[in-house]
Amino acid sequence: MGSGGELAALTADGVAAEARKVRDRAHGNRVTYSPKVFIPLTMLCRDRCGYCTFAKAPARLESPYLDLEAVLAIARAGRDAGCHEALFTLGERPELRYPTAARWLADHGYASTVEYLAAACRAVLDETGLLPHANAGALYEDELALLRPVTASQGMMLESLADGLAAHRRAPDKVPERRLATLEAAGRLAIPFTTGILVGIGESRQDRVAALTAIADSHRRHGHVQEVIVQNFLPKPGTGMAGHPPCPPEELRWSIAVARLLLPAEVHVQAPPNLSDDLGPLLSAGIDDWGGVSPVTADHVNPERAWPALDLLRQATEAAGHTLAPRLTVYPEYALEPDRWLDPAMHFFVLDASDAEGLARDAAWCSGGEALPPDLLDPGRIGPRAGAASAVGEVLAGVGLGQEVGAEEIVTLFGARGSEVNDVAEVADALRAEVVGDDVTFVINRNINYTNVCTFKCRFCAFSKGPLSLNLRGDPYLLELDEVTRRVAEAESLGATEVCLQGGIHPKFDGDYYIDVIKAVRAGSDRIHIHAFTALEVTEGARRLGVPLADYLLRLKEAGLKTLPGTAAEILDDDVRAILCPDKINTEQWLEAHRTAHAVGLRSNITIMFGAVEQPAAWARHMMVTRALQRETGGFTEFVPLPFVHMATPLYLQRRARRGPTFREALLMHAVARIAYRGDIDNIQVSWVKMGPAGARQLLRAGANDMGGTLMDENISRAAGASHGQGMGVEELAAVVAPLSRPLVQRTTLYGRVATPTPA
Ligand code: SF4
Repeated sequence: MGSGGELAALTADGVAAEARKVRDRAHGNRVTYSPKVFIPLTMLCRDRCGYCTFAKAPARLESPYLDLEAVLAIARAGRDAGCHEALFTLGERPELRYPTAARWLADHGYASTVEYLAAACRAVLDETGLLPHANAGALYEDELALLRPVTASQGMMLESLADGLAAHRRAPDKVPERRLATLEAAGRLAIPFTTGILVGIGESRQDRVAALTAIADSHRRHGHVQEVIVQNFLPKPGTGMAGHPPCPPEELRWSIAVARLLLPAEVHVQAPPNLSDDLGPLLSAGIDDWGGVSPVTADHVNPERAWPALDLLRQATEAAGHTLAPRLTVYPEYALEPDRWLDPAMHFFVLDASDAEGLARDAAWCSGGEALPPDLLDPGRIGPRAGAASAVGEVLAGVGLGQEVGAEEIVTLFGARGSEVNDVAEVADALRAEVVGDDVTFVINRNINYTNVCTFKCRFCAFSKGPLSLNLRGDPYLLELDEVTRRVAEAESLGATEVCLQGGIHPKFDGDYYIDVIKAVRAGSDRIHIHAFTALEVTEGARRLGVPLADYLLRLKEAGLKTLPGTAAEILDDDVRAILCPDKINTEQWLEAHRTAHAVGLRSNITIMFGAVEQPAAWARHMMVTRALQRETGGFTEFVPLPFVHMATPLYLQRRARRGPTFREALLMHAVARIAYRGDIDNIQVSWVKMGPAGARQLLRAGANDMGGTLMDENISRAAGASHGQGMGVEELAAVVAPLSRPLVQRTTLYGRVATPTPA
């Protein structure tokens, strides 16, 4: 990179090529935007900038400030339209210029505009969960600190450090030292901060280099500059600069590229899409963000420039070989390090709006809920195939050549967005067809949850009760063994070929209890397949009896046990387990239980419970360790993704978890698993209880081939708040699968075929 003088002498094209390389290395092909609403808290301002149409005189406003009800009405509309950000735009310190503003504040009990802003942010957070971003101008450190507990990020355009600009002559808050002081104070307070420059207000290229260098230096000191906006000046009628020429597109591109080169690579560079007619040149100059895009409110700063519809933005982004992803007002690098960057009062609000990458949840759907999933595989909504130049495209090209994916490639695939999601699904679907054909399989089974009493304290579990607790979702219970026998006989008479037994770890159980349960099942049927007891249950059973696990598993096998469910795996990553289930078996113990089961001739499956607190790297580790064990033993029959159902779980109620995976993440979990387990595990199962029928149908087009069991009674997801029923008959399964024109085929637990489907 050249000096400021050298850069100033170059053309936009002369700097853009290098800027693109820096952007692509740091941010890949992903371009983000923030779905937001503007809340113009006050349009009064003590400054008189030459280009501004935002600020109004009191006589032109009904009220000096929006009252809280008006603020909330905008925020609610934003929430209902799927926004995550409430962008508070406001003039600077109007109470120092206008008595009417000072009076309004005093009448409402606020000492300053900033104090009222804090109250408005608090109201929006509490009412709607939208994340406030305060854009309140040049603030003092105590004012920034006041806003930190009620905002996810803050911002202030540096605009320019040039002295004596006509545009700023009557703007006391636009003095460069004041703005630099605000930037520094935000850094000291560890506030994720947005700043930027205005291009074309009379400043020189050297002035822009100076401003960008100052921002870069501040970021190097504090690490807090999350993004820099490079905004082009457009003259507006009725302003002091109405006759000033607009910023030439070449100057904007040059400034974007130079920003990309002067700023540390991790800082995001943004250009507002509504201020340019052609978006491709902005991307080719090095931006990786479009800023806030509002489906609800006008841009109050540039009201004459309509926002491009989201679909157009997506098309322009994808046409340039990028993918578009919604983000929060706080960028992922900061959202994923909340202890450093967020006030504790903001942690949950950010978590609740986040996906696993720290970006924004992209739809209302959550596992077990009633909202329909977005149609990610609808060809009408997706763009062209991701170019091989993208990281996802490169991994898929390797998969096409038969290459195995490792942890890094798995994480890359989980980052697929937009049309890339369809590409991953297509590759997974083709592999599914190649490996297991078109059959959609299911097993007729009955779940028997024999007790909900448990001594463990898994923080994601809404099912278990302490022995003495009463709970809103039902009392503690322990089924009599006779009842187990009765339910088994009844299940068999209804056509079941399998019973699936899972329960809590009752304090009274010794290892013999599990043997007695198997005997009770056998008393109900001498041939039904017994799929029972997690790695935790058998490990506890052996421990309580004081016998080696292999001996204990052999006893269970001799009593009639055939396969073990993979539940209790949760995420096989001990750092994540320390949050989810600290007192449960660890990763190595889960693997050892299954290794031992396979060694004594039992088979089992792999589950993953995902979407609560972890990131995609943990999913990749889970796949890698289970794939390695499968290569050692060959004992796993299938992979079963179980999306975290958040509603009634202790972890979510304690405000320490996300609301489960997004539908995109759930779909990718099935598709990526199909790719990652190729040649090792042939069956990828859908949990229809958690995904719902419409979700399940999409997963069957994205690598999954099995619908699991009909269940008859399923209590565990239901206890966590899932609303998709406790059983599904064969006819209902057929209705889910029918639109796919693929055969629905009844199977045995071990994937043999059952001749004729038996009505359930
Ligand atoms: S997940 Fe299982 S072990 Fe954990 S608390 Fe719930 S029932 Fe007990």
